[in-house]
Amino acid sequence: MSHESAPRGQLMIVATPIGNLGDLSPRALALLEGADAVYCEDTRHSRTLFAAHGISPRHRLLALHEHNETAASVEVVERVARGELVVLISDAGTPGISDPGATVVAHVVRAGLTVSTAPGPTAVIGALSVSGLATDRFVMEGFLGRKAGERAASFAAWRRERRTIVFYESPQRVAATLGELARSLPGRRAAVVRELTKLHEEVLRGTVQELAAQLSARDVRGEIVVVLEGAGEPEAPAQAVVAAALRERFSHGASVRDAVADVVAELGVARRETYALALTMRADEGPGAPARDGSAGTS
Ligand code: SAM
Repeated sequence: MSHESAPRGQLMIVATPIGNLGDLSPRALALLEGADAVYCEDTRHSRTLFAAHGISPRHRLLALHEHNETAASVEVVERVARGELVVLISDAGTPGISDPGATVVAHVVRAGLTVSTAPGPTAVIGALSVSGLATDRFVMEGFLGRKAGERAASFAAWRRERRTIVFYESPQRVAATLGELARSLPGRRAAVVRELTKLHEEVLRGTVQELAAQLSARDVRGEIVVVLEGAGEPEAPAQAVVAAALRERFSHGASVRDAVADVVAELGVARRETYALALTMRADEGPGAPARDGSAGTS
């Protein structure tokens, strides 16, 4: 690796494969080879990755996991400050994504030192990209809570969530989770993405009811991401509903301006169309109708 592509004195967040070893990028490989220290969740696990790529770990493979992240972060800051190239990896995928990483990055940033990345695999993006669901806006929920109350709160929030929802789930719980979704959000489409990039890769697509039925009838194994369709755009209220809301305001003596403002706020309808409708209604009432306010702007 050239000096330019891996300057010393920085922390590099390096993504590693989520299954297929071929997904380790040449740049990630060079960083692992050239680092002064590589911090990883589980040194034994990462030694397997190093061995598969012919990297000799020597003394540079150090542990950084959820139980020592703060102490190890202090150590990382000291190393970076004295000019070392420190690499952070996790067991699989991108560090910091439902994995340790955020704390050490915050420490390095707070010390005014540089953090950079060799980006690559992460199950959340892989699953989203093959789901067949909308990818333009999405929300990553990490692992769902295990307590019934936490799960119920998530499902309630998702009833109004317009973005596609992605979460990690265990094979033991996924059938029950889809069952809960079938009851809470019937009709929503979803994709259950299993063992991405591995031999038994599988993507099940359907409504949450269909997926719950499929999964409850089999022994589910491997690593899983669930991608759930968002709530979609709410249907615009019919004109009759908007007219009724305006009429109700008029009957209480509201001006056109006030009635429109009120109805726009309540129903979330377009101001311009609501204003035009209000004026038409007023005109239809004839010249005898009290001219409470026809002068408001249409912006
Ligand atoms: N940092 C990782 C990443 O960037 O994706 C995620 C780590 S999290 C502890 C592990 C979870 O990611 C698994 O339980 C599973 O939900 C998901 N996952 C990891 N690899 C996967 C794969 N190959 N296929 C499907 N899901 C995977």
